[in-house]
Amino acid sequence: MSRSPLAADPARSRGREFPGTSDETRGPRSAFQRDRDRIIHSIAFRRLRSKTQVFVAPEGDHYRTRLTHSLEVAQIGRVIARALGLDEDLTEALCLAHDIGHPPFGHAGEDALDNALTEHGGFDHNAQTLRTLMRLESPYCTHEGLNLSWEVLEGLAKHNGPVEAPHWALAELDAAFPLDLGTWPSLEAQVAAVADDIAYDNHDIDDGLRAGFLELDDLLTLDFIADQWREVERRFPHAPRDRQLRELVRGQIGWMVNDVLAHTRASTKGIEDRAQIAVSDRALAGFSPAMHAAERRLKAFMYAKLYYHPEQTATAEKANTVIVQLWDAYCEDPSRMGSRWADSLPAEEPHRSRHIADYIAGMSDQYALERVREFFGDAPGDLSNV
Ligand code: MG
Repeated sequence: MSRSPLAADPARSRGREFPGTSDETRGPRSAFQRDRDRIIHSIAFRRLRSKTQVFVAPEGDHYRTRLTHSLEVAQIGRVIARALGLDEDLTEALCLAHDIGHPPFGHAGEDALDNALTEHGGFDHNAQTLRTLMRLESPYCTHEGLNLSWEVLEGLAKHNGPVEAPHWALAELDAAFPLDLGTWPSLEAQVAAVADDIAYDNHDIDDGLRAGFLELDDLLTLDFIADQWREVERRFPHAPRDRQLRELVRGQIGWMVNDVLAHTRASTKGIEDRAQIAVSDRALAGFSPAMHAAERRLKAFMYAKLYYHPEQTATAEKANTVIVQLWDAYCEDPSRMGSRWADSLPAEEPHRSRHIADYIAGMSDQYALERVREFFGDAPGDLSNV
């Protein structure tokens, strides 16, 4: 596939926050390859292996975690990027990093931290992704953060399109290294965003069925899933049910990817340079209007049946309590964070509370549960419901 004139070009990157600090002798890599590699080698990335995707600290090895989710997003994103002639390395870096700012226990953890920081600007997982990559994850002797390329940071900041009212964490970073928050990001960033949707729409069906929270008969009330299923039964009438279900999920992913390719090719026709993407009045890479409508119905279904399943809601409440307990414990006795974090605790608000929130946000589900057991004995132990 030849390179699209709309692809981001690593040789013409807008640079890094701390210029002149990159050691260009470590392997022949483009700027975006370096970014992808820095993300993979980060501690924050490794911690995704025991952070909640949908299920809290699942006992079953077959469920997704945020790490395996991010790998699936990267797989889908790369396929789309390559087929469209976009920069595959930039797309992959964006996909791998997109969930790095999630605290333990997914949205339950995010709500708890947002509450805890009510008077200090709140907590937002996407802004925390940027804060993690630009300030908290600091493996270099010369500067804070991973010092990623402008294109990676703008793509993460504008994951959902232009940002009208940036969260404090994003506003602070944007003041230090301006990311043009009011414009549309690259096509690579738009591809990463839709790859995230395709990945979780489909793997949550797979995990939801596995956990017994979803039933196939219920899923078949969605006409497009019923169409896919009829096709699976026609082609593989005698295959075991579990393989038929994997075929269903695989078919859905392919159907959505093909829709994105066709729609993106059509909507970028006549667009000749990247500057036009930034000032467009809408996303140019993504689902067709028909797929968008189908996908919204699928999401509504998943909220009703899986994300707000009574067992999931009950687990989320317990997870929220864990974060509140940890919050109180660290505010009361910051030395519990260990010397590196306790010694650098600012005395003034809002910085003090934000520092404690950074510490808790970095935790894996497992680590958070272990700390609660350490501080409070038997208080909420195992949260796993699958
Ligand atoms: Mg995601």
